Amino acid sequence: MAEIQCEEPNPYQVALKQLEIVAEKMKLEPDIHEVLKLPKRVLEVAIPVRMDNGRIKVFRGFRVQHHDALGPYKGGIRYHPKVCLDEVRALAMWMSMKCAVVGLPYGGGKGGIICNPKEMSVGEIERLTRRFTSEIMEIIGPYRDVPAPDVYTSGREMAWIFDTYSKAKGYAVPEVVTGKPIEVGGSLGRKEATSRGTVIAVREAAKRTKLDLTKATCAIQGYGNVGYHAALLQRELGSKIVSVSDSRGGIYNSDGLDPKAVKQFKSKNRTVVGYPGSEKITNAELLELDIDVLIPAALEGQILADNAPRIKAKIISEGANGPTTPEADDILYEKGTLLVPDILANAGGVTVSYFEWLQNLTRESWTEETVNNKLEERMVTAFKTVYDVSQREKVHMRTAAYMIAVERIGNAIKLRGLFP
Ligand code: GLU
Repeated sequence: MAEIQCEEPNPYQVALKQLEIVAEKMKLEPDIHEVLKLPKRVLEVAIPVRMDNGRIKVFRGFRVQHHDALGPYKGGIRYHPKVCLDEVRALAMWMSMKCAVVGLPYGGGKGGIICNPKEMSVGEIERLTRRFTSEIMEIIGPYRDVPAPDVYTSGREMAWIFDTYSKAKGYAVPEVVTGKPIEVGGSLGRKEATSRGTVIAVREAAKRTKLDLTKATCAIQGYGNVGYHAALLQRELGSKIVSVSDSRGGIYNSDGLDPKAVKQFKSKNRTVVGYPGSEKITNAELLELDIDVLIPAALEGQILADNAPRIKAKIISEGANGPTTPEADDILYEKGTLLVPDILANAGGVTVSYFEWLQNLTRESWTEETVNNKLEERMVTAFKTVYDVSQREKVHMRTAAYMIAVERIGNAIKLRGLFP
């Protein structure tokens, strides 16, 4: 099969560039740099699915395992028409870095299927999920590689993965996948966890920049699981959500939007666009609004050298993976924007995935309060560690976060040595 080309900026090239910047800054041993550049394993599978019209459609799916020096591969599975292999490679590397930044005993992996779930029936999505699970069965497992939700996947798909894997083993293995519904071994607090972490990052950043969040305005790009819960939590801190968007465009209201009402509108109309009392804007315009806090919670490649000079937000907390290019990072840093990078800002999701995995392995269930307190503690500690390195080394937060992650992974690689 032909290699699948990603749109520009190519996410894997972005990830390699980020790694290169850090390698240079920390004078990383070239051998470790080489090891981290390439994923350890890339699996591409063809997934034949019986569609509702009786015909077979063959989908293409991937699972990329970047590195496992710190523990089993960990990362979500994305369903999207624009999934491309270099994107999944990049996302897998970012998972390695993310897990290392927050100190989880995991490596990094990611999966993706090229499909448009918005145009498929529930039955078709279920058959796709189960067949994909069976095709990657050999390389996943509770101590091997633990998938989770990502763009356009949720607890529903995770329950099917859990069930398919368990059927093959002959007994229930909830710890093979995280982000499951509560009823089948999911963790309280997991659904909100990514956003909770992203908003904790905003709060910690606001403390450092002396921004009063009770008077702040906020825009959120993307209104899926991460964007929606981020809107709710940011509003709890007293901020005004003046703009949100989805793939069809954005809405703006200077008096503030009610996140729950917008969600209800989107459930009915499949988009936020047209929400009563709001002005329609584009996704590009949303990024450049005169606001205090910007939360990108959609896809990669949004903040580029082109538009970075026009971004006015004082704090950016990346709920999405890979929204900003290295060139844009430098522009924002020069301008004094405090950007909390994806590998820290959205690490709350995988952190509570880790808690879910621990609960499954021990057959325990923790209260939501326990989960949220543990998440808070990890996020605050990780934020402080990254912020302090960025101040000490005079680098932006992304480079600081990478320095910490690469150091931790590099040390594990060195201590474990090379086989054979
Ligand atoms: N897909 C999420 C991420 O990008 C969650 C991964 C996980 O929980 O393993 O961080």
